[in-house]
Amino acid sequence: MAIQMSARRFFVFLLACAALGAVARAQSPDFETTRVADGVYKFRWQSHNTMFVVTPRGVVAFDPISNQAATALATEIKRVAPGEPLAAIVYSHSDADHATGAPALMAGMGQQRVPIVAHEAAVAPIRLANSPDLPVPTFTFATRFALDLGGRRIELHYLGRSHSDNMLVGYVPDVAVAFAVDFVANDRIPYQDLPGWYFPDVVHAVTRLLDVPFSTVVFGHGPDGDRGAVQRQLVYYDDLRASVRRAVAAGLSEEQAVAQVRLPAYARWGQYEQWFPLNVRGLYRMLKTATVPAR
Ligand SMILES: [Zn+2]
Repeated sequence: MAIQMSARRFFVFLLACAALGAVARAQSPDFETTRVADGVYKFRWQSHNTMFVVTPRGVVAFDPISNQAATALATEIKRVAPGEPLAAIVYSHSDADHATGAPALMAGMGQQRVPIVAHEAAVAPIRLANSPDLPVPTFTFATRFALDLGGRRIELHYLGRSHSDNMLVGYVPDVAVAFAVDFVANDRIPYQDLPGWYFPDVVHAVTRLLDVPFSTVVFGHGPDGDRGAVQRQLVYYDDLRASVRRAVAAGLSEEQAVAQVRLPAYARWGQYEQWFPLNVRGLYRMLKTATVPAR
């Protein structure tokens, strides 16, 4: 009897452990993989997203994000597309918080020397960073490039300077899914004081993104969006630029502009309280000095 009781207690204890484990995972999972379309997956690592595409000739993965993220990404690719090799890695842009981890991704896939594709202007900053975890791309292009893998096409578009001078956008035409990082997001204020953002180039880049006939876009941060999200981003940049220009024209100092310029229409956007005043500061400096804040 006593043995039966303790066995039952032990079973209840196991159930409690399983429940706690489930809660812990639900509260702060480090990563999750979501199917976006046929053979197209978003992989989220903490607050960063990347995307991978399964083709008849292997998997194309965008940003590895970090060593830890890339190791988890490899596990997820092998789970979702068992037996498929990694065909290529594509850097959205040269920033370390998105592009780091290609060697860890290759190692996780049990491969060596997988081609790394990026925009040609990504080479110089990556060389300068000189990190073994962020190898220089092995293939670069200037304006447009397409990976054709067994009949599945993945287009890479350079839309001009936006956030950095080497940002590309990925596009999978057969499912009309795009991948775009940092310079656009879904109702989310751009990062802090716009480090590495080029104005007005970024406005042109968002306009050109709308020329790509996507219906769904996976962003480098936050939830996916549709064409409306990209259109709202364009209006945001216009509104921000107009309001900071007015502040400069009115003779406001940088501190006055940061304190006074508000765009309540965007108050419901993510990071509005924390980052909108910093957006004003960054753009004010850009307009005054015609230089881009350092990344
Ligand atoms: Zn970046």
